[in-house]
Amino acid sequence: MSKKQIEHELHQLESQDRQAQLSKEEQESAGKALLAQLGYVSDLLWDRYSEEEILKAREHASAYKTFLDQAKTEREFVKKAVEKLEQSGFVALDSLKDGDLKPGKRVYQIQRHKALCAAVIGQEDLEKGFHIVGAHIDSPRVDLKPHPLYEDQELAYFKTHYYGGIKKYQWTTRPLALHGVVTRADGTQVSLAVGESEDDPIFAFTELLIHLSREQMQKKATEVVTGEELNLLVGSEPYPEKIERRFCLGLLKYLYERYGITERDLITAELEIVPAGKARDLGFDRSMIAAYGHDDRICSWTGLEALTQLSDTPRQTAVLILTDKEEVGSQGNTGAQSRVFETFLLELLAMSQDGSHNERQFRRAIEASAMLSADVTNGIDPTFPSVSDRYNDARLGHGIAILKATGSGGKGGANDASSEFMTWVGRVFDQAEVAWQAAELGRVDAGGGGTVAKYFSNLGMDVIDCGVPLLCMHAPQEIAHVLDLHETIRAYEAFYKA
Ligand code: MN
Ligand code: MN
Repeated sequence: MSKKQIEHELHQLESQDRQAQLSKEEQESAGKALLAQLGYVSDLLWDRYSEEEILKAREHASAYKTFLDQAKTEREFVKKAVEKLEQSGFVALDSLKDGDLKPGKRVYQIQRHKALCAAVIGQEDLEKGFHIVGAHIDSPRVDLKPHPLYEDQELAYFKTHYYGGIKKYQWTTRPLALHGVVTRADGTQVSLAVGESEDDPIFAFTELLIHLSREQMQKKATEVVTGEELNLLVGSEPYPEKIERRFCLGLLKYLYERYGITERDLITAELEIVPAGKARDLGFDRSMIAAYGHDDRICSWTGLEALTQLSDTPRQTAVLILTDKEEVGSQGNTGAQSRVFETFLLELLAMSQDGSHNERQFRRAIEASAMLSADVTNGIDPTFPSVSDRYNDARLGHGIAILKATGSGGKGGANDASSEFMTWVGRVFDQAEVAWQAAELGRVDAGGGGTVAKYFSNLGMDVIDCGVPLLCMHAPQEIAHVLDLHETIRAYEAFYKA
């Protein structure tokens, strides 16, 4: 034996000796602490939660489902959210005057019926920055074309134009509802939601019978059902008189008698075709929720819960920004690229003072701000393992997923949060004992995606992507985990309180 080997042997013996002196429990806990320091493994929420906590999670799930059923579109979400905000002591920002925004004050502002901002004024000067949770309330769906109505083979249809990234074939032969507003020529408006109550009619996109699909079955999935084939079947009763377009006129007669709307009114209508029916528990154990539009109403709703639940005045001003148009690129005056959200923050700053403000002060506030871009991500689906990196993708039931970077094709279009900021967010969650998992959106080169994160980080604030992992994202029925929903509320709460 060399001298080195002997020293090594002695060292081994010594450490064995030390270990023998420790009780079995002490050894185990020392081992766990060392493991926790050395490695990082996210916890299964089932193992973390007490029975009481699981019960709370189920209560949240139930409230969430009810909300989803009443808020399938961005307009409906805004309406329901404002009800909730007002019940929780929030008032319209426009009803206040300069100097009214004292610490603890709760305010909200609607952006053109389709986007929403809300805030709880913090104890610190607003110049010290905001803590912002930003999510989107639009979901993939199918819109109507400006001239929707036509008839063919004695059937009446609406022509459509899909909105956001969908697999068109998933939308055929399933019950669909029509939600939205029709603004009549005189400016009056009628809101519709047809297809939701049990005695309502529903609508459908037809699809080929398998018997005659020999040619279709050879097509690529993107061509199996094309955009122009998403024609919504809406009626088949003709107008009594045997005149031209009598099947269209039969339908128009019904629309006029029932809603007082004309074919002219349809041109400017915003009617959205969404899956009919309610959010449902999934699994014998009801551990999951199947619903249309978890993306991104699950992060919007949890953000709303966290903000309205704040009982004490937070240190820094807590802000919730719910945007529209994320699914088509976040542009327009309700999308995250709009300056209306900046204006809201500027109003908060100015109204917390005597109305005066300057550019420098505002830029300082923005650049001192922290934001969670709250959006869903993919959960690992074991049926399709080839698109996930099992070491780096989020798993259902392991809490909120944090994504340093998003994007596609080599992080193209990504927001990339800094190591310092990500560490800070992780610490905030750790201190509040919130379960989180670091994740990426799928395997490199499998695809990818982005969120509103980059539009806000462009302004100079620190932004990181985080949110709830889903199965079947963007399908008419998406799946989320009950415990992740609850843990996400806890995460946003911890962030607001930090
Ligand atoms: Mn989303
Ligand atoms: Mn999406």
